[in-house]
Amino acid sequence: MITDKKATSPRNTRQREAIARVLAETTSHPTAAWIYDKLKADFPDLSLGTVYRNLSFLSDRGLIRVLRSGSGTDRFDGNASGHYHVVCESCGKVEDIAMESDAALDERAETLSGYRVSSHRLDFFGVCPACRDRHTVS
Ligand code: ZN
Ligand code: MN
Repeated sequence: MITDKKATSPRNTRQREAIARVLAETTSHPTAAWIYDKLKADFPDLSLGTVYRNLSFLSDRGLIRVLRSGSGTDRFDGNASGHYHVVCESCGKVEDIAMESDAALDERAETLSGYRVSSHRLDFFGVCPACRDRHTVS
């Protein structure tokens, strides 16, 4: 096993902790660029590449979640537990939805696929209340 000395240096640890903290303190499912903007004043030598690298490090270890977007920019979630999202197709906002993760779906998928299913993701798409109001203003 290769020990990544760079990843465990005090400076990198501090940066990674700051990135994890920014993510933990927001429910907005931000992009890497948004996190970078929040931190660049405190960490003048931080780069967007470093932010991406640390986000990969954290998600590889299951500490955060990546919300992959097929076409757009990936977003990141400080809440790594299984939960569902609702995405506004008008403004792009991503919010948590207060709906319990349905374990029966894993069982059905397992039966149908023969896979050992460990989790699932579910995203709902629509138009958020703010965008709906904006569009119905006469
Ligand atoms: Zn919206
Ligand atoms: Mn979330």
